[in-house]
Amino acid sequence: MIMANFEQIFATNVFSDAEMQKRLSPATYEKLHKVIAEGGELDIAIANEIAAAMKDWAMENGATHYTHWFQPMTGVAAEKHDSFLSVQADGTVLSAFSGKKLIKGEPDASSFPSGGLRSTFEARGYTAWDPTSYVFLKANTLCIPTVFCSYSGQVLDKKTPLLRSLSALSNAAVRLLHILGKTEVTHVYAQVGAEQEYFLVDKEKAARRRDLLYTGRTLFGAKPPKTQELDDHYFGSLRPEFKRFMAELDEELWKLGIYATTEHNEAAPSQHELAPIFTEANRATDQNQLTMEIMRNVADRLGFQCLLHEKPFMHINGSGKHDNWSLSTNTGENLFKPGRDPYNNTQFLLFLAAVIKAVDEYQDLLRISVASAANDHRLGASEAPPAIVSIYLGDELSAVLDAIMRGKRFNSAARERMEIGVESVPEFAKDTSDRNRTSPFAFTGNKFEFRMVGSSQSVADPTMVLNTIMANALCEFSDKLMRSGKDKEAAARRLVRTTLLKHSRIIFNGNNYSAEWVAEAEARGLCHYRTAADAIVHFEDEKNIRLFEKHRIFTATEIRSRVDIMLENYFNVVKIEAQTMLSMTRQEILPAVYRFETDLCELIAKKRAVSLPDGHERAIAERVAAGADGLYHAANALDEAIAGCDAVRTAAEGAAYIRDTVLPAMNDVRAFADALETNVGKDAWPFPTYGELLLH
Ligand code: ADP
Ligand code: MG
Repeated sequence: MIMANFEQIFATNVFSDAEMQKRLSPATYEKLHKVIAEGGELDIAIANEIAAAMKDWAMENGATHYTHWFQPMTGVAAEKHDSFLSVQADGTVLSAFSGKKLIKGEPDASSFPSGGLRSTFEARGYTAWDPTSYVFLKANTLCIPTVFCSYSGQVLDKKTPLLRSLSALSNAAVRLLHILGKTEVTHVYAQVGAEQEYFLVDKEKAARRRDLLYTGRTLFGAKPPKTQELDDHYFGSLRPEFKRFMAELDEELWKLGIYATTEHNEAAPSQHELAPIFTEANRATDQNQLTMEIMRNVADRLGFQCLLHEKPFMHINGSGKHDNWSLSTNTGENLFKPGRDPYNNTQFLLFLAAVIKAVDEYQDLLRISVASAANDHRLGASEAPPAIVSIYLGDELSAVLDAIMRGKRFNSAARERMEIGVESVPEFAKDTSDRNRTSPFAFTGNKFEFRMVGSSQSVADPTMVLNTIMANALCEFSDKLMRSGKDKEAAARRLVRTTLLKHSRIIFNGNNYSAEWVAEAEARGLCHYRTAADAIVHFEDEKNIRLFEKHRIFTATEIRSRVDIMLENYFNVVKIEAQTMLSMTRQEILPAVYRFETDLCELIAKKRAVSLPDGHERAIAERVAAGADGLYHAANALDEAIAGCDAVRTAAEGAAYIRDTVLPAMNDVRAFADALETNVGKDAWPFPTYGELLLH
């Protein structure tokens, strides 16, 4: 039904290239098109014409308001709506929207996180139009993607560093390609496809759990008798409401020009995955933010709650996001495409070697880019790679690199195998073996797939890090090749070899989930920051500050502010969880247990009165009483741990305190509560259980 009018609805809510071409003068369209493709500035006359055309388009489609749409460090998109209404001197009203309003906004943004970059009395922040991402319509509002910075120009958002990294990467890649003789290339784009996992649960049931309401994850819940074992059967009888959700979601996303193809994940009950077709990284990032928002809205409309949390349920797989990343030239060449004969494809090898060098040198930054309290529950658990970054290349490509490192020619029999591997890229990608799927950073035919990203995170941070570290490696390569002799091809091959010899420790094709890998990775000297609290503080290591300053992504001050924001976020997220846990324990679980105990004791008393044996009832009563006693004491200890939060003096101290004191106290409370859940009557339990939420 929807597919039939797919062409009519696609991108109808986007001020798309086609719409621009239709509504702008040829000169203005030309100029805007160039800025979208290559960056640059637009003068005010042009901005005025574009603003007027946007307003007309938006109003024809029912809009009355516009907003600068930006991505502050909260990770959630922010907007402030203004109407197109303009009152004239004589009191008459008009609709108006100027280039000035399109280009710049001044939200009173004092309560967004700034990590000390801006005090509340300096409330002013600026938003500035990012013409490289399309303007779109949401209900009655024209949404203009913007960057967000402070009065003094310091970055306060996730888009600005991403845009900076994209141009650093393009410049570095173009320079290297020119050295290799490919002078027709003028721009290199990073392309991203962000696969999104999520859970759908019944809205009414979810609303009866304060943990889901306040924290997005369950803080209690015993393992139900059935979880993932039979999920295939479960999905075999997909409820019509799920299908309806996916159809409505697809339709809304298509209207926004998002190439979504929904499918359900086999991993956990009620868990699904949405994979869009990849696009330019900045747009893909905006689109993923929008996708998450629309998922929540559509779910709500249809009686579901969409859970985007990284680990909504213990004992059951959590949700991640795969940041599929590749590089493409303006001439349409994918720089990670190995071709028929990768051994002799020097350009491919050089870009591959650059990735290997970049990821090895900045493993820590990739780890940090996905560090959050929520993702800590996933990384290193059984469904996601450990918090150790390594690269999977597959046997075939590894054999090519081995030959290069050993200074041997790659023999044709092996190359035969390689050709098969590479030429069957779609099969290869789909047929991912378990070993492949365990890798945090896997080469999948013509792209890399960074799989450590958490489901609720923006792909802006990990993509920005990938772009920056890649730009850095490419710059070093260019510098070296510039200093080499005339034969650039030979120099490039030597460079590939020395790079591989130095950085091949980062390549690992085995099972990343195994305990042996953790030991081996540590023996190889790979970075292993187990928790977000361990990782985040290293963002401001000297080498990282040097990197970001060199490529003009961040100043040292901006990095320090981000460290504080991330640490404070970690602290606050867990503190809210701890407080929620405490109140649920004291106000819901313990009272429910007392009611169950009362019933049991009354039964025992009545049995005694008529001289009936009460042995097993007593045993249960004793077990439950012991559990309640344990829970009571664990809750008191958690209360004390929470009180201790007030004593921390710095963000780093706070995060360490949460990691070492609050989280362990929460684990104790949970252990007692979950054991009680399985020992008291089902009707007595105060909120829906895992089974009721996921399987009913
Ligand atoms: P898999 O099944 O291994 O996850 P797919 O081919 O289905 O691989 O792709 C998954 C995601 O990767 C999709 O979002 C897709 O658009 C994206 N993708 C495919 N090719 C590229 C590419 N060259 N660059 C970036 N993303 C890509
Ligand atoms: Mg994938």
